[in-house]
Amino acid sequence: MNVPATTDVLVVGGGNAGLCAAITAARAGADVVLLEHAPHFMRGGNTRHTRNLRAMHPGPTATLSDSYCEEEFWTDLLRVTGGKINEELARLTIRESYPLLGWLQEQGVRFQPALSGTLSLGRTNAFFLGGGKALLNAQYRTADKLGVKIFYDTEARDLNFNTGGFQSAVVVNRGYTFEIKARALVVASGGFQANTGWMREVWGSAADNFLIRGTPYNTGTMLRCLMGQGVQTVSDPTQCHAVAIDARGPKFDGGIVTRLDCVCFSLVVNTQGKRFYDEGEDFWPKRYAIWGRLIAGQPEQIAYAVIDAKVAENFMPSVFPSISADSIEALAEKVGLDGAALAATVEAFNAAVVAGNYNPDVLDDCHTEGLLPPKSHWALKLDKPPYAIYPLKPGITFTYLGVKVDGKARVHFSGSQGADNVYAAGEVMAGNILGQGYCAGTGMTIGGVFGRLAGASAAAHRSSL
Ligand SMILES: Cc1cc2nc3c(=O)[nH]c(=O)nc-3n(C[C@H](O)[C@H](O)[C@H](O)COP(=O)(O)OP(=O)(O)OC[C@H]3O[C@@H](n4cnc5c(N)ncnc54)[C@H](O)[C@@H]3O)c2cc1C
Repeated sequence: MNVPATTDVLVVGGGNAGLCAAITAARAGADVVLLEHAPHFMRGGNTRHTRNLRAMHPGPTATLSDSYCEEEFWTDLLRVTGGKINEELARLTIRESYPLLGWLQEQGVRFQPALSGTLSLGRTNAFFLGGGKALLNAQYRTADKLGVKIFYDTEARDLNFNTGGFQSAVVVNRGYTFEIKARALVVASGGFQANTGWMREVWGSAADNFLIRGTPYNTGTMLRCLMGQGVQTVSDPTQCHAVAIDARGPKFDGGIVTRLDCVCFSLVVNTQGKRFYDEGEDFWPKRYAIWGRLIAGQPEQIAYAVIDAKVAENFMPSVFPSISADSIEALAEKVGLDGAALAATVEAFNAAVVAGNYNPDVLDDCHTEGLLPPKSHWALKLDKPPYAIYPLKPGITFTYLGVKVDGKARVHFSGSQGADNVYAAGEVMAGNILGQGYCAGTGMTIGGVFGRLAGASAAAHRSSL
C-alpha cells in the first residue's frame, strides 16, 4: 500500500491511545491513516508491556470484584499527584473508564480476573487476557477491518501549519520522505523517555544510567514539533513514572520482568554501602513508583537491595537470578561494594530492629528504633544466610511533560498561535492528569478515554460531512 497524499484523520502512534482514536474515527465514517514508527513485530509502543487498566465500577463485574466508585478513584489520584491534577479532566477520565471496558470488549479485547503477584489490584484494575500484546492484536485487527490504513516503519518527523491550523505531516517511510495532508491530526506518540539526548538535557549525565522500560520509539519528536508551534505544555520535564528495576536489564524494552518487588523486605544501600530511605514506609504498591527517582538521586544512579533467606520467597523476583553468598562481606565483594561498609550498615540495622509480629500482608509492627533513615515496617534482622543482593537502577516508564488538552482532547496553543484540528491522547497528554505520582493502571485508562475522545473530535472534520 502506498502512503496516501491526503486523508481525513491522521493518527501518529500505534499504541493503545492511537488505536482507540483510529477505531473511533473510522467508526464515525472518517478516512483514517495511522502511522507507527516501529516495524510490525514491535508495533504498539509501551502498550505491549501492559497488563491492566484502572476502571471505576459501581458493582462487581465478570472480572472485577466489589465496587470502585468515582470518589474513591478521584481520592486515589488526588493523593498520588499531590494536587498536581486537572480535576475536570481527571473526573472525565474516571467516569469514562467504566464505559471504556465495554467498548474495548466490542473491539475484541478480552479481560480476565487479576493474576497473583500483581500489586493486589484485583478490585480496581481490569486485566487483559493475554496482556497488552493481545489487546493490541485485537485493536489492530479491528482497525484493519474498519479500513484504517496502517503504515509501520513510518515516522512522523515534522508538522506543517498555516492560519487554518494543521495542514500536513512530513513522514519518513522506509527511508523515503512523503507529505500527508489531513483535515485533523491525532498525536498519540507517547512520551520522550527514549530520547537519550532530551533526557540528558533534563537530568544531565545521570540520564545515561537510566534504563527505559519500554519502546525505544517514544522519542518525543511530535511533542517537540508541537512545542515549536507554541503549544501549551503541562507537567515538567523531570516528572516521570520511574521504578526500581534490575540493573542488569537492557537499556530499552526490558518490560515488566525486570521490575523488582523486594525493596520493602530488604535493606537498600548505595555504592558507599549506606542506606538512604525507609524501605518499609508503606505497602509496595503505594511506594514502587518513588524508588526510580530515589535511586536516580544516588551516586552513579545505582543501588543494591540486600535480603536474607527469611524473606527470599516474599516477593516476585526479576527475570535475573539474585547474587548470593554466605556472608555479607562476600556478598558485597561480588558486586564491588566495600564489605566492611556494608557489614557495618547491616550491623547497625540489626541492632536497631524492634522485634514484632512479622506479616508481609499488613503494615506490621516490625520496625527500627534510633536509626536514620528508619525502616517502619517489615524490619527483620538480616542474619539468616544465604544472603542475596539485587542491583537496582531507575527504570523510566514514561515522561509526563505533555501537551495541554481540553475535554474534547483538543490541544491548546498559546497566544495568537492556534489550530482547532489538533488532538492528543495517551502518554503525550497524560501530564494533564498525572502532574506527578502514579496510580497503577491509569496510563491505559487515560489513553483509552482520550483516544476515544480524540478520534470522535477528529472525525468531526471529515470531508464527507
Ligand atoms: C513495562 C511497562 C508496563 C506497563 N504496565 C502498565 C499497565 O499494566 N497498565 C497501565 O495502565 N499502564 C502501564 N504502563 C504504561 C502504559 O504502557 C502507557 O501509559 C500506555 O501504553 C500509553 O499508551 P500510548 O498509546 O500513549 O503510548 P504507546 O503505547 O507507547 O504508543 C506510542 C506509539 O507511538 C509511536 N511513535 C512515537 N513517535 C512516533 C512518530 N514520530 N511517528 C510515528 N509513530 C511514533 C511508537 O512507536 C509507539 O508505538 C506500562 C509501561 C511499561 C513500560
